Parts: sequence; structure tokens; C-alpha cells
Amino acid sequence: MDVAPRDLASTVAALRDAHAAGNATIPHKTALLALCDRVSPLASAVGAVNTFYVDDGALVGDNTDVAGFDAAARALLERGGRALPTRVTLLGAGGAAAAVAAATSGWAGCELVLCARNAERASALARRFGHVRLDRDLPSALEGAELVVNATPVGMDGTELPTPVELVPPRAAAFDLVYRPGETAWVRALRDGGHPTCDGLTMLVEQAVLAFELWFGITPDRDVMWRAAHGR
Ligand code: NAP
Repeated sequence: MDVAPRDLASTVAALRDAHAAGNATIPHKTALLALCDRVSPLASAVGAVNTFYVDDGALVGDNTDVAGFDAAARALLERGGRALPTRVTLLGAGGAAAAVAAATSGWAGCELVLCARNAERASALARRFGHVRLDRDLPSALEGAELVVNATPVGMDGTELPTPVELVPPRAAAFDLVYRPGETAWVRALRDGGHPTCDGLTMLVEQAVLAFELWFGITPDRDVMWRAAHGR
């Protein structure tokens, strides 16, 4: 469903009445939190809801992006022969960025440098997590990064880059939360430059597996979901 922000409250009310379950995406994840009757401790800590369902008439919000990102990032790092990083740069300060902050807060000794255009949103996110440092200057925010994560929608159009490729440190892995047919230009360019990279498709499937479990109480077939995600 394509929902304008002004219609979110009425849409959510109708979904609750219909006993619906689902996922929410950009730009609704933080606004949805306030519209739920109950939220999980994780969604509350993150400040964003990406999955919801109705339990005994109450709309319950949860967050499967955190574990979805964690699983996909670990797979990327393992594939690239890298250990869990102690220095991560995160672009963006919305709902998805909050999930990345929550996941990396569980990585031993990890410092997260947050670079976002909206200073207020960035500060609010940093206040929630002790391992976040703010840096609005992109070149200095990227300096020393072992993993760079794009949690802005930049690149959804297929051409725009969230950072100039040459600013990403040579050995850094890159995780683009954006997914689109044929990957993003950022992912393609960084892979060509020798960086371990992934787009948002693995995270999309991983968070959907967890959402499916919440809705139906059973573990879905990942292969079927992978084939669907790849349009096969
Ligand atoms: P959101 O809550 O609207 O946050 C978007 C963030 O990006 C905000 O900090 C926003 O800044 C910033 N931003 C937007 N346009 C920008 C631009 N042109 N330049 C710099 N910063 C910009 O959205 P979200 O839910 O976090 O989603 C962000 C992206 O992640 C989307 O593309 C979404 O599809 C993707 N995502 C993927 C997965 C997955 O499973 N792969 C999961 C979650 C999200 P302002 O506050 O100033 O607008």
C-alpha cells in the first residue's frame, strides 16, 4: 500500500480493524511507533517499528530490521574475510539507521560514527545509543571506517551515490540498505574498486523471515523467499 504520511493514522486504524499484519517502510517507521497500542522492548529501544500485527484487538509493533541487518552484515563481513568491525560509519538518521545503531551496539567495542543531514534527528538517535559519535563532515566521518552503511534512500533512483567512491577507505566493506533491480550504483562502483559489498536484499529477506515467524508462528522457507526477492 502506498500511504501518504497524512493518511498513516487512518490507514493504521483500518488495518487494526481488519486484524491485518504487515511491514512498514520509508518514511513511516518512526511515526508508526506512536500509533501502536503496544510495542516490543526492542522497537521501543530503537524508536522505530517495521513490522506489526494485531493481538487480541491491540496493534502490536516490533522491529525485525535490527536482526535482519545484523545477519546480513555478518554474512557480508564473513564473505569478505573480515572480523566484526570496531569502527562503522552510518549515513542517515531515520528508522532504518536506528536499527543499524541498535544492531551495532551489540558488537564488542564498536564505535558508530553517524553522518546525517538532519542535525536534530541525528542527535536524537545518538542520545539513544552510547556507542554513537556525530560527525556531519562526510570525509572525516568516513575516515578509518571498516564498514560503511548507507541508511538513506539515496541510490533508489539507480544512479545517485550516497558517498563519492574515493572517500570510502580502501579496505572498508560497504552495506547499502537500498535495494533495486540490478543493485545500486554505489554497490557496483565499490565492488569494482575491490570492496566487499552488499545491497539491502539480504536484509530484506532476513527481516521478512522474522516478521513471518511473528505473524504465523512458523519459520518460512528461506529459499522460496530468496527466489521471490530475486523475482524468480
Ligand atoms: P526514513 O526514516 O525516512 O529515513 C531516511 C533518512 O535518510 C533520514 O535521515 C533522511 O534525512 C535521510 N535522507 C533522505 N534523503 C536524503 C538525501 N537526499 N541525502 C541525504 N540524506 C537523506 O527512511 P528509512 O525507513 O530509514 O529508510 C531508509 C532507506 O533504507 C530506504 O531506502 C529504505 O528502503 C531502506 N531500508 C531497507 C531495508 C532492507 O531490508 N534492506 C530496511 C529498512 C530500510 P531527513 O530526516 O533530513 O529527511
